[in-house]
Amino acid sequence: MKLLTEDIKKKAEELGFDLCGVAKARVLSEYEPVIKEWISKGFHDKMEYLARDIPKRLNPEALLSGAKSIVVTGLNYYSENRQKVPGSPIVSRYAYGIDYHDVISSKLKKLLEWIKTVETEAEGRITVDSAPILEKAWAREAGLGYPGRNSIIINKTVGSFFFIGTILLNLELEYDIPAEEDPCGNCRKCIEECPTHAINDNRTIDARRCISNLTIEGRGAIPSEFIPYLEHRIYGCDKCQEVCPRNRNARQNKTPEFYMSDEIAGMGPAEWRNLSREQFLKLFGKSPIGRLKYEKFMGNIEAAAG
Ligand code: SF4
Ligand code: SF4
Repeated sequence: MKLLTEDIKKKAEELGFDLCGVAKARVLSEYEPVIKEWISKGFHDKMEYLARDIPKRLNPEALLSGAKSIVVTGLNYYSENRQKVPGSPIVSRYAYGIDYHDVISSKLKKLLEWIKTVETEAEGRITVDSAPILEKAWAREAGLGYPGRNSIIINKTVGSFFFIGTILLNLELEYDIPAEEDPCGNCRKCIEECPTHAINDNRTIDARRCISNLTIEGRGAIPSEFIPYLEHRIYGCDKCQEVCPRNRNARQNKTPEFYMSDEIAGMGPAEWRNLSREQFLKLFGKSPIGRLKYEKFMGNIEAAAG
C-alpha cells in the first residue's frame, strides 16, 4: 500500500502535477449543515445544481461504487505573463490558456491508466470540476491545504493558485493527514479588499456578489450595482488571491497549455470591444472562456468598459 501510494505520487509529479495527496473515502457529513445554510441564504445565486443531491455530493460512493481512496492533485496555474496593453479588459489567470478541464483530465487519465497497469483490479473515476463532489474538502482531507477566508485552499508551498483534480479509486492506499493549520491567522485582507464584499465570515462566498460568478456563471447581464467594481475584469476575478500574503511566493506555472498566446496578450481595449464572433471562437474556442456564449462575453466587455 505504502509503495503503491508513493509510486502514484511519483507518477503524478512526472505528469507535471505540483501536488498530490491521498484521502480515505468517507461521507463528508460535517459539511452538510454548512452547505445547507449557504444554499438557504441564496448564496449559490442561480447555480441551482449546487442545491440538488447534497447527500450525493458528500458521499464518494455515489460516484464510484466501492470507492476507498481519493487521490487529489494540484496543478499550479499562476502566471506572470500578464496582458500587455494597459487598460485592456482583464481575464482571470486560470483562463489564460487551454481549458483546464481538458488539460487536467488528460493528465489524470494517464495517471489512472498507469495505476491500472500496476493494479489490474483498479477501478477509478476522474473528476475536474465536473462531478458532484466537494473537491476543496477532499484537497484538505488529502493534506494539500486548508481553506483561506476567501474559501480557496491554500498550500504552504504553492499558495492558492492551483487547480484541484481527483481520482476516486476502489483501492486502499496510505492516507495523508488532513490539513488542520489555518493559514490566515489574524489576516482579513481578502475580506477587506474584495471589491463587492462577497466574502462571508465563515469562509464561504456570496456568489450573488462575486465578480467571478457574475462574469462566468451568471447567464444574463451583470447587475448595474456591480459594474463600478469590475475594474476592467471581464472573466473571473483574482483579487482575493492577489492580495493574499500566502501567495507572495507564487511561482510561474510550468504547464505550457496555461500560457496566454501573444495574440491575446497584445490585444488592446478596442480590439476586445470589436471582437467578432469568428474571432471569439478562434481565440477562445479551446479556453474556458469558450464555454461562455459570445453575447454574454461581449456584454461583460461592455460592462467592464463602464
Ligand atoms: S473573486 Fe473577486 S469578487 Fe469574488 S470573492 Fe474574490 S475578490 Fe471578491
Ligand atoms: S488574504 Fe489573509 S485572510 Fe484571506 S485567505 Fe489570504 S491569509 Fe487568509
